[in-house]
Amino acid sequence: MTRTVYLNGDYLPETEAKVSIFDRGFLMADGVYEVTSVLDGKLVDFEGHAVRLQRSLTELDMELPLTRDELLDIHRELVRVNEVVDGGVYLQITRGAPADRDFVFPDPKETPCTVVLFTQSKPGITESAAAKTGIKVISIDDMRWGRRDIKTVQLLYPSMGKMMAKAAGCDDAWMVEDGFVTEGTSNNAYIVKNGKIITRGLSNDILHGITRAAVLRFAAEAQMEVVERNFTIEEAQNADEAFITSATMFVNAVVEIDGHKIGDGTPGPVSARLREIYLDESRKAAI
Ligand code: PMP
Repeated sequence: MTRTVYLNGDYLPETEAKVSIFDRGFLMADGVYEVTSVLDGKLVDFEGHAVRLQRSLTELDMELPLTRDELLDIHRELVRVNEVVDGGVYLQITRGAPADRDFVFPDPKETPCTVVLFTQSKPGITESAAAKTGIKVISIDDMRWGRRDIKTVQLLYPSMGKMMAKAAGCDDAWMVEDGFVTEGTSNNAYIVKNGKIITRGLSNDILHGITRAAVLRFAAEAQMEVVERNFTIEEAQNADEAFITSATMFVNAVVEIDGHKIGDGTPGPVSARLREIYLDESRKAAI
């Protein structure tokens, strides 16, 4: 089946959707994105993603060319026509395509944003091998820019981080700045010690994960103790458990960091419980 995608108001076969070579997303990574996961054909936490999208755009002086309801309709229509059961919807908004390359932002009245959405089908996404066995991570220096709270399409360093992990026989990398873990290349990072869930607090240093917000809320509701503070790789290696959260991996155990096994090297009870609660609650609340 040829995938139908959305580009600037049109639903098109993916092969016919074309963007200008002068698009600032292409030339300057001048754009933001969101990934909303789909379970049982429904959108998980659409509201959270819509709110974060608006914040990213505001921080970059860009205007959302669509209302929240229009955005929701496009997401739903793409899920419907592409018959997505499990997977996700990728959305990207760039500062559009001016007549020529220029560092200066174009006038938004003359250069409308480019809006792209497409679906990704991932049958059985909740039953992945990574979820069963947990993942192995390496640590790398965090060499990204200083506004990681804005969800921009500058993903070269995270992409290089995944390649470094792959070269080391691992699944992902946790990034470290000034001695403390910031986050994973595409996820938020957590450890568990003596029943306490520990994760870095929100700031410009990390992306404010939509899954993170939901998981911390569910943890508090389940009377689990959450502490938002920095932690080191050494502390993580000596923790009882470690895990990550993201819209595409939900809650996933981390069982090895830089070759050092966490606990007994298998997914622990806290991450397993949080994953179960997160998936149950997300399915119930999906729209
Ligand atoms: N941190 C980074 C750097 C990410 O790229 C992502 C996923 N986009 C996350 C955290 C997790 O965010 P979310 O739970 O909203 O997917």
